[in-house]
Amino acid sequence: MHELSIAMGIINIAKKETEKANKTSVELIELEIGSLAGVELESLEYVWETAVKNTVLENAKLEIDFKDAKAECLECNTIYSMKKMYDSCPKCNSYFKNILQGKELRVKSLEVI
Ligand SMILES: [Zn+2]
Repeated sequence: MHELSIAMGIINIAKKETEKANKTSVELIELEIGSLAGVELESLEYVWETAVKNTVLENAKLEIDFKDAKAECLECNTIYSMKKMYDSCPKCNSYFKNILQGKELRVKSLEVI
């Protein structure tokens, strides 16, 4: 499952950061996930509990900051929110756009104890 490999990647990052700080476990982890990142939040939460067993994240609280994608229209410069990659500009219907946010998939913060 795609979300499982994402969870494993996050666990690896958390493990490295925790070791760097000379700590043993993570109290809180905050993820930033854009709506275009291709992550199903429900699936991620579903695999999370199993994936973090016996890792530094086992008792960590998981917080997800979900960001709606935003794009700037290259025809009329309107900035708009998009739900899907192929949404067009609500003002002029152009598909030409510069994606400003929405592809994020990162660990935003980590509190170790
Ligand atoms: Zn436009």
